[in-house]
Amino acid sequence: MTKQPLTLNVFIHEDLSDDSRRGLYNTHFSWFTDEIQELSGRKLSVNMFSPSEAETLSGFDYKKISAAGSLDAWAEKLRSYFGSQLLKDSHTRFNKYLLLTRDNINQSTMGIAQIKGYASLASIRSDMVPAHEAGHMFGATHEDSEILYNGWWSETIMTSDDFSSLRSNAKRFSDKNRENIRKYLDEPIAQQARPRPEDDWDDD
Ligand SMILES: [Zn+2]
Repeated sequence: MTKQPLTLNVFIHEDLSDDSRRGLYNTHFSWFTDEIQELSGRKLSVNMFSPSEAETLSGFDYKKISAAGSLDAWAEKLRSYFGSQLLKDSHTRFNKYLLLTRDNINQSTMGIAQIKGYASLASIRSDMVPAHEAGHMFGATHEDSEILYNGWWSETIMTSDDFSSLRSNAKRFSDKNRENIRKYLDEPIAQQARPRPEDDWDDD
């Protein structure tokens, strides 16, 4: 049986109106797509929506003192836009929603995501931020990130200390995080509670 494919739905904030969709895809998402497809054996479609294609979402006011408050408001906005399918594990496990912004949410936060959820915000300030936030939605953790050494140091996607300008972008997850993502995607989907057929207590 083929595995259920994945989508990452990226809403380009109106403050990125002048940037080309193709350019943003190439710098921030193309290598991430390769990595996810390779580690999961699933197809990942990154759907990039320009500001005019989803005006209500692309105008979201994301700059807040509290990054968590900004994330909650974004998740709520998505729920009122897309409706109840965002409450179902069978949908949100495989379909993620990210707001791509020019600036940070506040002075110290470049991005934030619901862990194993469907909503995230990511600034383009570093090439790694959208991949990092998407990683959280797919179950990757900071604890399992690694600095790799292969003649030079490079950071895997979930490295959480300040992205060092001396280290390069490994453009991959650590082996442990690759495993975390596979496990998350392959877990059985919680079935909706449904009335069981009456047992036939026939003890004779
Ligand atoms: Zn993080």
